[in-house]
Amino acid sequence: LLHLCRWTADYYVAPIGLVHRAALQPGALSSRSRAGTNPKKHQVIRLTAELPTLLERDRAFGPARRQREAFEFIEGLCGSAALSHLDTGLGFSRSVIHGLRDRGLAEIAEEIVERDPFEIDDPVEAPPTSLTQDQQRVLGGLIDQLTKVNPNPGIALLRGVTGSGKTVIYMRLIQAAIAAGRTALVLVPEIGLTPQTVARFRAVFGDGIAVLHSGLSTGERHDAWRALRDGSAVFAPLPELGVIVIDEEHDGSYKQSETPRYHARALAAMRARTEGALLVLGSATPSLESWHNALEGRYQLYELENRATRHQLPVVSLVDRRNRKAESFATVLSEELHEAIEARVREGRQTLLLLNRRGYATVQQCTACGWVAICPACNVSLTWHRRRARLVCHHCAWEEGVPRCCPECADEDLSFGGIGTEQVERILSETYPTATIARMDMDTTGGKWAHGRILRRVLDREVDILLGTQMIAKGLDLPGVTLVGVIDADVGLNLPDFRAAERTFQLLSQVAGRAGRGTDAGEVLIQTLRPKHPALHHTLTHDYVSFATAEIEDRSAPGYPPHRRLANLVVSGRDETSVADAAEGLADWLESTIETGGLSVSVVGPAPCPIDRLRGRWRWHMLLKAESASDLGPLLRYAASHSPVGGSCRLEIDRDPESLL
Ligand code: ADP
Ligand code: ZN
Ligand code: ZN
Repeated sequence: LLHLCRWTADYYVAPIGLVHRAALQPGALSSRSRAGTNPKKHQVIRLTAELPTLLERDRAFGPARRQREAFEFIEGLCGSAALSHLDTGLGFSRSVIHGLRDRGLAEIAEEIVERDPFEIDDPVEAPPTSLTQDQQRVLGGLIDQLTKVNPNPGIALLRGVTGSGKTVIYMRLIQAAIAAGRTALVLVPEIGLTPQTVARFRAVFGDGIAVLHSGLSTGERHDAWRALRDGSAVFAPLPELGVIVIDEEHDGSYKQSETPRYHARALAAMRARTEGALLVLGSATPSLESWHNALEGRYQLYELENRATRHQLPVVSLVDRRNRKAESFATVLSEELHEAIEARVREGRQTLLLLNRRGYATVQQCTACGWVAICPACNVSLTWHRRRARLVCHHCAWEEGVPRCCPECADEDLSFGGIGTEQVERILSETYPTATIARMDMDTTGGKWAHGRILRRVLDREVDILLGTQMIAKGLDLPGVTLVGVIDADVGLNLPDFRAAERTFQLLSQVAGRAGRGTDAGEVLIQTLRPKHPALHHTLTHDYVSFATAEIEDRSAPGYPPHRRLANLVVSGRDETSVADAAEGLADWLESTIETGGLSVSVVGPAPCPIDRLRGRWRWHMLLKAESASDLGPLLRYAASHSPVGGSCRLEIDRDPESLL
């Protein structure tokens, strides 16, 4: 069983991405040190300095290229690494390593060997011994489908509300596949890869699991590969792959950002087809494309409407914040949410708060002349990170100091808008002085194990309020949480993107699913200025089907997926006029190519992208819409090699785009 979180083309072609069933016999995989053995010590190097700018880096290292490489490598491991890993594993000599220390950039110390980051000490809840009737029905269907030979098993879509026991079904299905001498591949979105998830699989499959994820260092990744390979004397032949599971199949992170941009779903479908494996897509809120495919009979549909345990789905309410005299929307907590949190703090129960915007404030503006702090490379406002006292661009690496006064007119009255998690954390700590508050977002989970550490504290009930970005919405099973609050549901809804409603519904359903997973009932409060919007409205009743029906209908007239296949073609370059010209030229070229080829594809645009400047490059785009993939594919391949875009401009082709920003 191989557990991947970012699915890249490399992994896809690597034949060792499988475990032979021999590997599942006890002792077959023994490379990992298990919990409970005596702690082993080793020497580690820890960085003691930060070199945030390239300039400082050039200055610090000069011609010492290997030292810089080592420094950056250790940085990539979140600041520390075992010496043995650096020298024998990666070939950095001791003199390079000592050089770092001698420059005062690092220290060398003795440390207990870090175990597998996904190892949890305490026993996880044992898998249920019996399935509910619903689960049995679904599992039976999937096992039937798995054993189909001619034609192939094909694709299954499992839609099950949060907590309906999908994971339990995946595990039973995989057991069935293994019993038949086959292997399995499970994909979870990067952010859903928690120690909890892995522990649940380990509880069933023991060491027959290899975990791969993009946070692994090269060495660890090699270890994982080796474990896979050594476990089975022979490479597991590909035809033995029995099941591929894509959990949370709707998740945007399955689309890789490197070009060529593939969707894991498409790759997995291809692989399943060629190897005669069953592909199972699971989600509480399937992507509309998958849902549509199931309705049209291309995927086999399985549904679970109820939670597997006695716990009911939580009661969801919207807090309509329009026309409130007493509280402005800038007040982070409405009266309702405030009271609900206060009660939880008093009763010693836990609260989860979602705000999908990190930093302290996302807009910094001069009230005298209107100046706004903008990234010099991207046309987006800079976010103020107050604790670090920096203005940061969330799209590129740019950061700068916080000005004391307006750089345009020198006025000192700067206003801050767009409240982010850092500010909410501060407000919470002032409002609930007795509560312990933890924040989980990209700024607090930079360290490799930070995510797990915060989670640990929440599970141990050391935390009263966990605040975070969408990171907290996925996959966490936190039995102590009885209240989920969404501070501003409109953050994602107002994005100029055709998936804005879908993403919002998914996020809200997911975060709502975090409430009431323990013995106490859950409550969800969602603050919004758009309570009538279908994405919010249908969240109230956990009604995916109605939302999907309405949203698919809404996408019909503009011709968006699932009605049409899309490709987003982005032309970028350093010179604004050349980019606009190149985009116009490309659109003309596409039109005539389409006409010559007699293809049924239409071109919409060109127009500047919603983010019209990114990392120093101006951006224009056009959308290609096609009835079917069979017309779009050849056109895109032809465009990739023959398009007139060249010179200083670059063309990026994004097929089945996840976002049009
Ligand atoms: P999902 O993946 O759909 O969110 P899980 O598989 O995580 O759901 O199951 C949710 C919870 O319900 C877990 O704590 C799981 O152990 C429990 N559960 C699942 N199936 C059963 C069952 N048949 N009997 C009792 N508890 C179950
Ligand atoms: Zn000004
Ligand atoms: Zn930027």
